[in-house]
Amino acid sequence: MKYVSTRGDRTERGFSEILLEGLAPDGGLYMPVSYPKVDTATLERWRSLSYAGLAFEILSLYIDDIPPADLRRLVDQAYTEAVFGTPEIVPIRPLEPGVWIEALSNGPTLAFKDLAMQLLGALFEYELGRRGQTLNILGATSGDTGSAAEYAMRGKRGVNVFMLSPQGRMSPFQQAQMYSLPDANIHNLAVEGVFDDCQDIVKAVSADLEFKRRWRIGTVNSINWARLLAQVVYYYAGWFQVTAAAARRGEPLPRVSFAVPAGNCGNICAGPVARMMGLPIEQLVLATNENDVLDEFFRTGTYRVRGRAETHETSSPSMDISKASNFERFVFDLLGRDGARTGELFGPALVRDGGFTLRPDEKARLPAYGFVSGRSTHADRLATIRDTWQRFGSMIDTHTADGLKVAREHLRPGVPMLVLETALPAKFASTIVEALGREPVRPPGLEGIESLPRRCTVVPVDVERVKRYIETHA
Ligand SMILES: *Cc1c(COP(=O)(O)O)cnc(C)c1O
Repeated sequence: MKYVSTRGDRTERGFSEILLEGLAPDGGLYMPVSYPKVDTATLERWRSLSYAGLAFEILSLYIDDIPPADLRRLVDQAYTEAVFGTPEIVPIRPLEPGVWIEALSNGPTLAFKDLAMQLLGALFEYELGRRGQTLNILGATSGDTGSAAEYAMRGKRGVNVFMLSPQGRMSPFQQAQMYSLPDANIHNLAVEGVFDDCQDIVKAVSADLEFKRRWRIGTVNSINWARLLAQVVYYYAGWFQVTAAAARRGEPLPRVSFAVPAGNCGNICAGPVARMMGLPIEQLVLATNENDVLDEFFRTGTYRVRGRAETHETSSPSMDISKASNFERFVFDLLGRDGARTGELFGPALVRDGGFTLRPDEKARLPAYGFVSGRSTHADRLATIRDTWQRFGSMIDTHTADGLKVAREHLRPGVPMLVLETALPAKFASTIVEALGREPVRPPGLEGIESLPRRCTVVPVDVERVKRYIETHA
């Protein structure tokens, strides 16, 4: 399989070439030249596989420059019961009739990002070792991404992580989770500022091309194709579980819907890929919080990026985005893979007009992809968390609550709805207390993490100080 850019650069690159890169040279995102089709017989054969076995089959369709035996070993190393807590890796549990929760949040940092990041850590270590190279990962986080990256890269040969976070602004649990890591290759820098300051520092360091090359600076952001590919697997794994009974009765391929709480769109953008490969998905329900850029797009065909002042701080903070990085991938497919048009919309049009509106003929193609959308507010989250706890004894986090609220608005008779659980409630304790008047349950082993010793260096909002830290610790 070869990869091309969403913005018109048709140079074909192999998977291991794009793995360690961010954007394509023309500023676009990498995409496979086509989506392999999975036929019914193959689907039936995959039903009996373990999660790692399924991941291997799907990844093999997109990766042909890593020997199969090596890929199998990397996948087996990433998806174990020891790391994810259950043999299913992404177990489902029922709520009301027709609605299930698919738990993507049982990894080391209790959020779905672990599923892609654990694989990315194994792939990075392998590819760097093969090339005899090292990499210094520099990132900014307001919580989930940074900790998932650190837990995936800890102890990996050839990789250092320098993660900037806004000092004192993450939840106490998130701070404890990141800052307590003892590994020598993990560096936490608590910036005396807000998340945007952290992001500006990362951008400034990356813009210094000489520094970037000299210190081999890389990223693990959500636009990496390998992350999106890893996420395709759990759409299949969810479908197999929820259709198990129908398959035993010999019924033909039932259709299933997925509801996904969306931020940068990495999670839900794996949905249309699974669907175009042939997985029988009825609807892809996209849920936003008060930051409703994407709900607006799917309702109106207009994509309007928000400024900082218009980006709300909410109780589902991992969805507080002003623009959705991965969304360009979906639009590229929607526009019939017209790189020039995609490049115009996400390049000049975004800079000039802060967004774009699809032409009527383009908008008319939207229904074919199965997307519907909706938004959820703080009050909706509280009500959904309370109701789910009282009626089903199931405690869900604030992001999953957004997904469930919007999922209920789109139920169709006879079509199971799988709501992707993107985090565990333990990560967002204050809103759980507000909704339920009690502390969230914590998975075993994490009871006392706030009292563990911390490794974290406080730095001012100062690009040069961060560069000097990297120079002395890389
Ligand atoms: C990252 C995250 C999201 C949003 O996922 P995207 O891939 O950015 O759309 C939703 N919920 C939680 C808990 C997250 O960590």
